[in-house]
Amino acid sequence: MENFTVIIQEKIGYFCVFYKEKMVREDDIIKAASYIREGKLVAFPTETVYGLGANALDPLAVAKIFELKRRPSFDPLIVHIADIRDISTLVATNDNRIYQLAEKFWPGPLTLVLPKKSTVPDIVTAGLPNVGIRMPNHPIALSLIKQAQRPIAAPSANKFGKVSPTTAQHVQKHLPGVDFILDGGKTQVGIESTIIKLNEKGFDILRNGVITKEDIEKIIPYAPEDKDKNAVLASGMMHSHYSPDKPIYILNDNLKVDREKAGLLSFTGQDIYGYKKVIYVSKNTDMREYAANLFEAIHQLEDSDVDYIVAEPVPEEGIGMAIMDRLKKASYRYQKR
Ligand code: AMP
Ligand code: MG
Repeated sequence: MENFTVIIQEKIGYFCVFYKEKMVREDDIIKAASYIREGKLVAFPTETVYGLGANALDPLAVAKIFELKRRPSFDPLIVHIADIRDISTLVATNDNRIYQLAEKFWPGPLTLVLPKKSTVPDIVTAGLPNVGIRMPNHPIALSLIKQAQRPIAAPSANKFGKVSPTTAQHVQKHLPGVDFILDGGKTQVGIESTIIKLNEKGFDILRNGVITKEDIEKIIPYAPEDKDKNAVLASGMMHSHYSPDKPIYILNDNLKVDREKAGLLSFTGQDIYGYKKVIYVSKNTDMREYAANLFEAIHQLEDSDVDYIVAEPVPEEGIGMAIMDRLKKASYRYQKR
């Protein structure tokens, strides 16, 4: 990871994490962890986006997440753990495939949806019998969870339906009411985790991310389920989500753009002339880099003087599936239908 140095202080056993000029001190992690134990809310960086965390085993603390985010109570939260042994305290199955996947992809941006134990409060799973679990690949997140000695329920730290935060400043701007923010600089992956659900035959994808179907198929087979039309609508499955306050459109031949008023999210770096602002979301048309910079770029254009945003589409394969998924949801409510 470029510009990212982790110094493990062996004597005290905690991390000091530097990201460029940023450092999270041991004292801050200890304070944040005691906030979690006291039922308060802490925003913290993960490798995907910033999370808004609470003690997953404390229903009142979890309720504060829904309140601050204005998140509808039917939308379940992902529980973050720091040790594979914690799976068995939350999950009511001993399925060996869980450990195969965890060994391959954790810590990392893959969430597993699994049958829950009664220790997991219903508010966390929005009343569903399953719980989403993952181990984030970020030293600050991991040391916060370890220090708190609690699993941490954490959705993205933004108002419901809005663009996810990739910096502490985004969190501060959108959720000033949060009790504490651990500032670890800009997140590296930049879009939310891949979410899969295990079934008898293999796995189904609930949300695309940078870990792709092809990556997971190397471990267990892809076995999509018939989607239940009455299933709870969750953000991973909603048509409209990740939506900025300014209109955003995906470029296509029929879209009429007044370039003098528009900001462009560019993938190829081509046909950029005349736009009021252009953001090269990736150099060298690299999808991983595009994913890492996408939300940051949308935040920038949202805060700039452009009237609306247009996004050049990327090829819908591999990580491009996850990127196009975010762009389609962000632009859904602005589309002419
Ligand atoms: P986020 O708001 O980015 O943390 O993502 C949370 C999303 O994870 C939800 O909107 C759901 O799409 C998905 N999710 C979490 N827990 C579950 C669950 N128990 N069953 C199905 N989907 C889940
Ligand atoms: Mg979210």
